Amino acid sequence: MREALLYEKLPGDRVRCHVCQWRCSINPDKLGVCRVRQNIGGVLYALNYAEISSMAVDPIEKKPLFHFFPGSQVFSLGSWGCNFHCKHCQNWQISWADLPELKSSSKTLSAEDAIKLTKREGCGGIAWTYNEPNIWLEYTLDGAKLAKEEGLYTVYVTNGYITPEGLDMIGPYLDGYCVDVKGFTDRFYQELAKVARWRGVLEVTERAREKWGMHVEVVTNIIPTMNDDDEQLESIAIWIRDKLGELTPWHVTRFHPQHQMAHLPPTPIAALERGYEIGKRAGLRFVYTGNVPGHESENTVCYSCGNLNIARMSYHTDTVGLEDSRCRFCGADLNIRR
Ligand code: SF4
Repeated sequence: MREALLYEKLPGDRVRCHVCQWRCSINPDKLGVCRVRQNIGGVLYALNYAEISSMAVDPIEKKPLFHFFPGSQVFSLGSWGCNFHCKHCQNWQISWADLPELKSSSKTLSAEDAIKLTKREGCGGIAWTYNEPNIWLEYTLDGAKLAKEEGLYTVYVTNGYITPEGLDMIGPYLDGYCVDVKGFTDRFYQELAKVARWRGVLEVTERAREKWGMHVEVVTNIIPTMNDDDEQLESIAIWIRDKLGELTPWHVTRFHPQHQMAHLPPTPIAALERGYEIGKRAGLRFVYTGNVPGHESENTVCYSCGNLNIARMSYHTDTVGLEDSRCRFCGADLNIRR
């Protein structure tokens, strides 16, 4: 537990948290929406500081990041809680966890030890993932500073709901930003996650790219009947093209029935391929289908000369056609960070 960053004191021992876009006003003894920040006697505490739910060495492609240190291994850490409560969450056991569960199942790992483990495991960097990292700001910030001192890369896998001031705090130390744009209508975000003002996700993502020069990749999990209409998919693709650039990778991934959405079918492959085509038609150079092992759209193919740059089979990656971060055959810029 640690005193939180980015909060203000209000009359009556209340506090307001400014870490994410909920900007919760929290009464004494109460928790924020994320269930991991508590007002204790007029002081806001991050209960999740150094509390670990999950830890693994993953291929960076699993995040998914396809144009960011391809083929490298990333030390991946998750904690507890979330500021969204998505009905289809794959990791709901940790992201919907409440305090009693947290206390009985959690392990403690200092930021220093996390970085030591990252190096000992031979990883290129560290990712805060599995649950939402922006509600873990204090710990991820300490870890990111140490990681940069050690020459490691740093990654957030995020719903993008951090505030601009939260982003500006971690921005100087964060290299990769794998962000969900889950849909593109008020109704969808409200129905899926009870989030009304979701457009802040777009603004902060643009800021991550423009102000902090982060490498951004966008993920959309296509859920049958929820966000699989051409209009939403087209809107996402056009926003990526116009605000992040045509070289920004877009991952359209397959939904699997989960949690409170177990009644829906998995995304048909044809719907993913339609998403792929929509992205390409909008002018995006790199669109990938996800959660369909062996699909040919997992590969990176040069948009200029058509040659294969990176071959992928599940999480096996072969950088066959790269010269630094460009196409080995024609020199085209592939927006690859290495
Ligand atoms: S991180 Fe977000 S959800 Fe959690 S207390 Fe702060 S404003 Fe509320």
